[in-house]
Amino acid sequence: MARIFSGIQPSGELHIGNYLGAVQNWVRLQTEHDCLFSIVDLHAITQPYDPGALASLTLDMAVSLFAAGLDPGKCIVFVQSHVAEHTELNWLLTTLAPLGELERQTQFKDKAQRQESVTMGLLAYPVLQAADVLLYKASLVPVGEDQVQHLELMREIARRWNARYGHDFFPEPQPLLTRTKRVLGLDGKAKMSKSLGNTIGLFESPEAIWEKLRPAATDPARKTRKDPGTPEICNIFTLHQGFSAPDTVEEVAQKCRTAGWGCLDCKRVLADNMIKTLAPIRERAAALKRDPAGVLDRLRDCANRARSLAQRTIADVRGKMGLLKDV
Ligand code: SF4
Repeated sequence: MARIFSGIQPSGELHIGNYLGAVQNWVRLQTEHDCLFSIVDLHAITQPYDPGALASLTLDMAVSLFAAGLDPGKCIVFVQSHVAEHTELNWLLTTLAPLGELERQTQFKDKAQRQESVTMGLLAYPVLQAADVLLYKASLVPVGEDQVQHLELMREIARRWNARYGHDFFPEPQPLLTRTKRVLGLDGKAKMSKSLGNTIGLFESPEAIWEKLRPAATDPARKTRKDPGTPEICNIFTLHQGFSAPDTVEEVAQKCRTAGWGCLDCKRVLADNMIKTLAPIRERAAALKRDPAGVLDRLRDCANRARSLAQRTIADVRGKMGLLKDV
């Protein structure tokens, strides 16, 4: 089984954009591959953040991932900072990471522009990503298109390390592009994001889901019920593809093109399917929230399993890089 590593920021409870864009795919992957999924709190602190909120946001994300269906019996779900080997390998890899390439990363340039002072942590973000993946010798990384450049840099770092210290020690990780399209927010303009207030949370009540879907943006060409629309440019159609059965998706497309129904009818069907899909997730989340100690137990157990894999890699890396054995 190929090993997969992927990470998610500790942004609190998941919304349907995270779910359709990444986590739904992870739930499927855990049955097909040897998977490690990390809540990447060390990445989160490379940007301004609230230290008083980070731990509870991390725990909320863990609850979300377990509730969404990640099962510690099938995969490893852990908090990045609980496995100290990530930071050790990060440092060892910085000795080979090409500075020019790091400075050319699009995400670095975007984020740096928005900050008053640019930190080493922000610049070295892709090196820590490389350490995350190479620590477990993962060969596949599920990524969105915006992460492909970082993955290329990761491959370059692996190549450089292998050439210098040990042929074929690290596999060059390959991208596993996610099947689901990028999910826009309910405004139909920007990417779904909590900071923009255009999301539906994974644990929202049926009433709240409908209240948010009802006014959501659709194809602007459908000014009246009689105007035909183009489903491919409507975010509600994208959401149907995530929550409705294939025959319903076909029906939606056909009724949209022929003005066979109005946008409210279309949204009502979507709301029903979304509520049905999310109901068991909401129930599991409620049970997990009643038992925070149980959630921490799962995280501890997973971190122990991740650490034992990481320690093997680090011992080999130290030896190959010529560091004196610990005494
Ligand atoms: Fe969008 Fe549905 Fe309206 Fe078509 S009918 S524009 S898919 S909401």
